[in-house]
Amino acid sequence: MQRWLKVSCLTAGLVASFTAAADTVVDDKYLSEDGDGSNWAAYGRNASEQRYSPLTQINADNVKQLGLAWSLDLPNERSLLATPLAVDGVIYFTASYSHTYAVDAKSGKVLWNYDPKVIEHAGDRLRIMWDSNRGPAFYKGKLIISTVDGRLVALDAKSGKMLWETMTIDPRRSYYITGAPKVFRDKVIIGNGGTEHEAARGYVTAYDINTGKQAWRFFIVPGNPADGFENKAMEMAAKTWTGEWWVHGGGGNAWNGITYDPAYNQVLVGTGNGSPWNQKIRSPGGGDNLFLCSIVALDADTGEYKWHYQTNPGETWDYNSNMDITLADVNYGGQPIKALLHAPKNGFFYVINRANGELLAAEKFAKVTWAERIDLKTGRPVEVKGARYEDGEETVWPSPFGAHSWHAMSYNPDTGLVYMPTIEMAGVFKDKGMDLGKWQSPHFYIDPGVVFGGEDTPKDYSTASLLAWDPVKQKKVWQLPLPPMWNAGTMTTKGNLVFEGRADGEFDAYNATTGDKLWAVKLGNGISSPPITYTVDGKQYISLLVGWGGGGTLLGSTAAQHGWKYKVHPRRLFTFVLDGKAPLPASPPPAFATPVDVPDFKIDDALAEQGKTRFAHSCMWCHGGGVVSGGTAPDLRESPIATSRDAFKDVVVNGVKVPNGMPRFGEFTDKDIDGLMHYIRQQARAAVVAKK
Ligand code: CA
Repeated sequence: MQRWLKVSCLTAGLVASFTAAADTVVDDKYLSEDGDGSNWAAYGRNASEQRYSPLTQINADNVKQLGLAWSLDLPNERSLLATPLAVDGVIYFTASYSHTYAVDAKSGKVLWNYDPKVIEHAGDRLRIMWDSNRGPAFYKGKLIISTVDGRLVALDAKSGKMLWETMTIDPRRSYYITGAPKVFRDKVIIGNGGTEHEAARGYVTAYDINTGKQAWRFFIVPGNPADGFENKAMEMAAKTWTGEWWVHGGGGNAWNGITYDPAYNQVLVGTGNGSPWNQKIRSPGGGDNLFLCSIVALDADTGEYKWHYQTNPGETWDYNSNMDITLADVNYGGQPIKALLHAPKNGFFYVINRANGELLAAEKFAKVTWAERIDLKTGRPVEVKGARYEDGEETVWPSPFGAHSWHAMSYNPDTGLVYMPTIEMAGVFKDKGMDLGKWQSPHFYIDPGVVFGGEDTPKDYSTASLLAWDPVKQKKVWQLPLPPMWNAGTMTTKGNLVFEGRADGEFDAYNATTGDKLWAVKLGNGISSPPITYTVDGKQYISLLVGWGGGGTLLGSTAAQHGWKYKVHPRRLFTFVLDGKAPLPASPPPAFATPVDVPDFKIDDALAEQGKTRFAHSCMWCHGGGVVSGGTAPDLRESPIATSRDAFKDVVVNGVKVPNGMPRFGEFTDKDIDGLMHYIRQQARAAVVAKK
């Protein structure tokens, strides 16, 4: 793809002549091909979302010679979750608050950055996933980013200059965007999140990539039939719902897992869980509740429904299908099939024919207790009695964090294996004691329609692994334990390698065939981003963002055990090359909170109990379950602000730290503030006592 041309340049009487690399035209043809691996031009490298590179310069024989080429400090950033892109020697990535960077891949110098001013735009909507963004898209010289406050922004990739921006959500609702936009046929598509925070009705929207004007929109669940249906698909879907589901929104939000399939010119949308999770509230007479927890194929030009496959009919556990959808040619039953590979939260690995949505295979890749198996004849799960917490309470595997989350898997066509970070953890689902008929949807706070206490998660509550899975034989080939439990996405190469960063800050290379660990480096912070690889002037590089973050950090001790403390450990972009000699930059050792007791503070247990509920609804998403911070926000058990009622109210109600990313909760009453104070002091005192 790289063409060279001669450019002459005349400036003030000086004639200069030099050769410059012509820009790669990243269009549909380019993104649909395997290519030579010189660029990583899309989220999953190309349209296939395989995260597989054909490069072999770095391979299983020489990977131990891998060393640091350079690193770039990112002192203004918090969570770094993005898959960077690399096009013509420039690395593009999104960081916290959708800050966007272009960096020279050879030198590590910042070429430009762009700040979409998310905090100013969000205002009081800045409450959820405040600093998360999973990456940009690149198309014909434009870089498209999403912002957490709900915009799509098109930038000139050369200059970073804004070309257009468009609002994709109703700002009166608590929708937000963390996902990477996807591009196809002069369009860009995006969904949103917010299922747990709103009477949410999910949808995806495609926009004209040159103007930002809406091309089409597809709602994932039906609205109120009295308002009329948008299309036949919604009319069909409405027959699978009961009660007044629209009052609670229904859900299905597509916050991740959107893949363009060039072979069939269709967009495959992985859809979300119900709003609320608890089907007894959402659709009290049962029903499949289409198109929750499904893969929905839409015509890419019109957004019209083509087919769907539902992984969890009548979802009731937050088992969404928002995990990445990978395109692969596989041989199934002696037939070559253009398939999609999908490993959603529910613990089954699905292989589906992209021509028509037919299920080819589905086996458990982790511990699963909600279903015995998937019936291949009907395509439906055979559920285990009791799993729907019919009697009010049940412990079910996997947890709402899934046996696999958004941390992307990769697929290597040479080994025929998928490489996936897995999580083994139980979830407790309980609605005993709740008045389900009186339940009301939240608005800018979390309430999933089951008891949600926001307790700490003990550090040994979960285990995790890197799993090599054969999607054709539907079995494990090798599996390695990983630190619990929030490990990053993987990349695989023709050099017979798999790369993955871990929760404990180690970045590893494995033999893709055997799983032998071949290389490791400690990068001084938890890793939540997947790596990419590309070439510049014939040299193969590997780049990785390092900055602990994402939903798994809200679990308290499970996340806090790694010692990645808020604002202590540097955020960086690392680039590796064979025989790289740059010294690794220093990072402080793991650090842990030191909870502070205020001995003369008399804890009122009833107030603390009220505070616990408020904390679970509004605070824990950043500050951690049981007031144990996982590292993406201050640990309030040691915060001096949380020892002074006036200072605490100034921050929480008056919003004095909004510029730092701490939202304002203007609706909190004095009683709410007292409750939170008492709960925080209670948790801090318990931690101090436990240490003695
Ligand atoms: Ca969810």
